[in-house]
Amino acid sequence: MQRNKRPPEPFTILCDDAYIKRERQKARELRQSEWWKRRCAKGVCYYCNRHFAASELTMDHIVPIARGGKSTKGNLAPACKECNTKKKYLLLIEWEEYLASISKEKSE
Ligand SMILES: [Zn+2]
Repeated sequence: MQRNKRPPEPFTILCDDAYIKRERQKARELRQSEWWKRRCAKGVCYYCNRHFAASELTMDHIVPIARGGKSTKGNLAPACKECNTKKKYLLLIEWEEYLASISKEKSE
């Protein structure tokens, strides 16, 4: 009984509760690891490259779990609160524009 019911946006396509729960649990475990502490100790936001206190950095999935991203070291990056919030609420295209705008600032 599906009649042309399109998801409102692509983030809903890969949502599988069990998968999301499992990957979130893995992320929690990695957050306790020495590897993660070392990454945060550098104090650099993965996206904007600005410096922050380790306590101000949050763990971000580069490819969100809801889009099939995994909680692996290659997909986890420290992000400042500003980038993390922006990434969550912007559409992918807007996020790419944001990244382009900050890399422009850096090169100037
Ligand atoms: Zn940032």
